[in-house]
Amino acid sequence: MVQAGIALGTCALSAVIVVAVVLFICNRRLHVKIQEARRELLERESTYENLFDSTSIFILLIDPSSSRIIHANKAAVDYYEYEADQLLNMRLQDLHPGLDDTGRFYIDQINSSGKNLFRVQHRKATGAIRDLEVSGGFTGSIDNNLLYLLLHDETDKVETEKQIETEKERAHNALKVKEEFLANISHELRTPLNGLVGMLNILETIDMNEEDKGFLSMAQESAQNLYEIIRDLIDFNDIQAGKLGLADEIFNIKEAVELTLSFFNDQIENKGLEVSSDMDIKLEGYRGDRTRFIQVLANLISNAVKYTDEGSVEISVRDGENLKVMVSDQGIGIAPDALDEIFTSFHQLENPYTKRFQGVGLGLSITKEIVSLMGGSIEVESVMGKGSVFTIILPDKFCEAEQCLKKTGTTETEEQVQKKTTVLIVEDEAINRLYLSTILKEKGYNVVEAVNGYQAIERCIESAPDMVLMDISLPKLSGLDAAMEIHAIDRYRDLPIVALTAHAHKDEIDSFISKGLKTVITKPVQEVELLRVINSITNGTI
Ligand code: ADP
Repeated sequence: MVQAGIALGTCALSAVIVVAVVLFICNRRLHVKIQEARRELLERESTYENLFDSTSIFILLIDPSSSRIIHANKAAVDYYEYEADQLLNMRLQDLHPGLDDTGRFYIDQINSSGKNLFRVQHRKATGAIRDLEVSGGFTGSIDNNLLYLLLHDETDKVETEKQIETEKERAHNALKVKEEFLANISHELRTPLNGLVGMLNILETIDMNEEDKGFLSMAQESAQNLYEIIRDLIDFNDIQAGKLGLADEIFNIKEAVELTLSFFNDQIENKGLEVSSDMDIKLEGYRGDRTRFIQVLANLISNAVKYTDEGSVEISVRDGENLKVMVSDQGIGIAPDALDEIFTSFHQLENPYTKRFQGVGLGLSITKEIVSLMGGSIEVESVMGKGSVFTIILPDKFCEAEQCLKKTGTTETEEQVQKKTTVLIVEDEAINRLYLSTILKEKGYNVVEAVNGYQAIERCIESAPDMVLMDISLPKLSGLDAAMEIHAIDRYRDLPIVALTAHAHKDEIDSFISKGLKTVITKPVQEVELLRVINSITNGTI
């Protein structure tokens, strides 16, 4: 019994020892594992600590509830130039001037922009205010949620951006001043040019010998060239400012093409060129801006004549799905690689030092803009030494309306109408008054003159004119105000008043029309245009 007890005791002891040994071994292993994990943790911590301290990005850990700085890496301490423990006692508000007490700004920015960057200004220990770019987020769980901010200094970049912005603004202002100057000077040049062109045209009616006629013709050509340069500069400015607009009228395409061709009669004759025009259109009426259509066509014909020394120039006009106008010449041609460049402003293919042809290189760029405003397109094909073909495609805007088909030009009955028609010319410049009245008197119109807005009203009452040509810039009472006062008189409510102005922007023209003026003639007044407008008023087509 005793022996059995001893054996049992020995057994139990052995079991305890075995269990103890097993436990010891397990414990030991566990201990080793824990040690390893701890070492690993420490290593990882040290790696992160190194990373934290070696990066050049400034890192701040913030307690969001108090905005207090809990931790700052070495780069941040160095950057802000505070002692490390001093920085750790500070709040975001101490770095960020003007930040409200809650410090919500950072949390809101991070929430709204995710991890995207936003900019702040911080004050360093030295008092220097710097621009910083910030991104950030939250470190972990909601209850242990620290706000981390990653910052880097952007002061130089912000400074450069500010400088670029200032330079851009300065350049923009300089460009505006230049544009305004160009616009003003072009308008100012128009008035004396108006007088010059007018007087030269009047000289044409005087008897003179062949030599004097030659001098006059040269003077007229120079004045015309100057007029075109000024017009191009004004158009260029308007295009740049998005102010170039188009009139909406119905005009006779055939008449417009023939008139445009007639501008070049002398040049064509002098150069001995052959010119042909081929118009295959069912309807002559077209809805669009007649003056701009003529300008576009005149630019192309002018180039065709200018760049062709011998051979022919052909104009073809076709309708169909659209209005197709082609101007072909047998001139010098254009190199394939220059075909796109010629539509760029101020671009000329000639070497400026050996330049043979006149021009400022604006014609085609303006033409292209106008054609595109008209909803069309322009193309060119050319072979060097053989010639060029410019093709304009405009939308089908032909119309059958009665008035479209009326032909302009002087007929027997119109001559009679002219004799019965009294035109009041209101113009303060004597030379311009003389020019206008000479043209009109020669055609048989009765002419009455006034030199300012008040006199215009008086003359209206005295002589009951059939229409008024009203200069807009007048002393004392402007042409526009005078026109409105005339229209306020009951019996002159519908009197046609035509504005004469050098200020021919689309918005200005629209405003004249909206104030009751019939139409606008741009200065310098061209005789053909003047007579066409007066004719259209007398026969009721405008
Ligand atoms: P410019 O007033 O100088 O004629 P444009 O804008 O009308 O200006 O034309 C630009 C350039 O394109 C011209 O300087 C000329 O070199 C070239 N060009 C235009 N039309 C023709 C043409 N029909 N034949 C040859 N070259 C042309």
